Amino acid sequence: MLFAGTPGWDALPEQAASRHDVTAIPYDTEREGRSHDLACDVVCATAFQQVTAPACTAMWAAPPCASYSRARGANGTARRLRGRAPDEVEGLPVLTATERVYLILHNRLTRVACALARAHVEAGGTAVLENPVDAGFRRSPHFRWDAQEHASIWITPAVRNLVAAALANATPVVWATFPMCQFGSPFQKLTTLLAIGPLAPRFFSLNELRCTCATHERRAIGWSADGSANSAAAARYPPAASAYFADLLFQHEVLPAAAWLAERGSGP
Ligand SMILES: [Zn+2]
Repeated sequence: MLFAGTPGWDALPEQAASRHDVTAIPYDTEREGRSHDLACDVVCATAFQQVTAPACTAMWAAPPCASYSRARGANGTARRLRGRAPDEVEGLPVLTATERVYLILHNRLTRVACALARAHVEAGGTAVLENPVDAGFRRSPHFRWDAQEHASIWITPAVRNLVAAALANATPVVWATFPMCQFGSPFQKLTTLLAIGPLAPRFFSLNELRCTCATHERRAIGWSADGSANSAAAARYPPAASAYFADLLFQHEVLPAAAWLAERGSGP
């Protein structure tokens, strides 16, 4: 589990370990600082050994989305990060030094996540990447006219190459986009998963979830009173989402998303 976020019973590694008889290895600098820093070659080498070990059957990566985020570039917000565009997804040619350092780091983390995913899939496992929906993708039902300048992680060369390599090997590739509110998030948070490997088809049913909310308690765009980005608060998975993702990866049989949610009811 790469970029696993801070620890907690509701987080995916903890849910995987408590619901299923598995050892979940989380990586996040917010958990272990530099020894979890995937921008560091030594840390990557250890992670590579782990994701290619025969006992490792699944890998999850949620690379930092902030530098790709539309939410942080929205008009009227306190801080506006530019730096990417759909045809310059790895960064615009003219940037400030601060922007460049930030984008180079995030590009690197995206490439690390994709390289580890590819190694894991080639070793026979299922890799899942998670990031916000690409609302600028015209052929998607989630396309929004005001988001056509959105430079999403999903159109980076790293992700494209990962998908192309899987398809060339006839490995199952499934894209799933769904609203996190259906798992109890106060944000709508349209989320996309790219699943590659033998368990990937299980993720397809997430596409059937629809937002039926009249309103949402919070919006991921903008900044909250304490100065933190709302998009950062929205990044944490609701407990039900962590539980379902863990079941998709580690349960012998699992219900489609809507049926699973109906069976779970509104409990924690
Ligand atoms: Zn909703």
